[in-house]
Amino acid sequence: MRILLVDDDPVSLKPFETVLRAWGHSVETAFDGDEAWNKLQNPQVPDVVVLDWMMPHMDGLELTQRIRKRTNTPYIYVIMVTFRSDPGDLLAGFEAGVDDFLSKPPDLNEFQVRLKAAERIVDLQNELIDAREALRRQAMQDPLTRILNHGAILGTLSREMDRSFREEQPLSLILADLDEFKAVNDTHGHVAGDQVLIEVARRLRRSLRSYDAVGRYGGEEFLIVLPNTDPKEAVRLAHRIRKAISEKPFQVGSSNVGLTVSQGVCSWSVPELVPTDQLIRVADRALYQVKESGRDGVQSIEFQTAS
Ligand code: GH3
Ligand code: MG
Ligand code: MG
Repeated sequence: MRILLVDDDPVSLKPFETVLRAWGHSVETAFDGDEAWNKLQNPQVPDVVVLDWMMPHMDGLELTQRIRKRTNTPYIYVIMVTFRSDPGDLLAGFEAGVDDFLSKPPDLNEFQVRLKAAERIVDLQNELIDAREALRRQAMQDPLTRILNHGAILGTLSREMDRSFREEQPLSLILADLDEFKAVNDTHGHVAGDQVLIEVARRLRRSLRSYDAVGRYGGEEFLIVLPNTDPKEAVRLAHRIRKAISEKPFQVGSSNVGLTVSQGVCSWSVPELVPTDQLIRVADRALYQVKESGRDGVQSIEFQTAS
């Protein structure tokens, strides 16, 4: 585990440090509450803090209270080392957020056992964080293509628009709809159609820049969010996508399926925030024009406030 040792007395700190290292932990030290608090501002927080109660400036109790007030970091297990054994003091410690106490001078066997208990909690905590992260990702992902789902790409569009507005940058989006996709299903079956959609998503991702976002907007419709992108660049990217889809046939079982895509581009740079659905409606209008004029193409419309 990563352990932060906090004690204003270097003489009592040193043996702890030596033994913790020998037990395989990675150890950092701080000589008072303030120094410990500064170290806790680093992104990589310790799993366990072992701290002395009595310290100048910020004592162990106050440091614990501060640690517990932070909500956006993983749980830190706090062990307080103290001469005090008065039940009132223990109560105050637990109320401040201390997880466990160790008497001073500490018994090393007892220390090792108490660290085992800490490790169980830290492991549980990490499992919980991983599970929550996996759930969060799952809730945002389209299960078939593994790109963002409808809700997640709309959320991205909304956030990126707010950011572009603040930074006074243009933003573009592409609505892409596969051409005559129903025929792929009719000829090769729905399962083959699904395989093609997976490969389409892969080609879309590979055609885009790292900061672009692509999501499955509907069945075989994709929404692409292009931050900091003016109309000219957006059209260039749309043509790159067009080529990525049409230049190489899709392998379905033993057959090759040729496919094309129609794309409507909407670019926005007006000095005014508008609801995202207005931009999507403009992109949809542009997409409709491509479908009307024969498919496999790109049409771009710049967003006007009155449109
Ligand atoms: P158009 O060029 O006008 O877009 O023709 P289209 O056949 O692609 O027509 P449209 O976009 O209206 O039809 C969408 C078709 O996509 C209908 C449906 O069978 C198919 N589709 C939608 N979602 C899925 C899916 O998840 N898997 C498969 N295999 N097919 C899907
Ligand atoms: Mg469609
Ligand atoms: Mg279609």
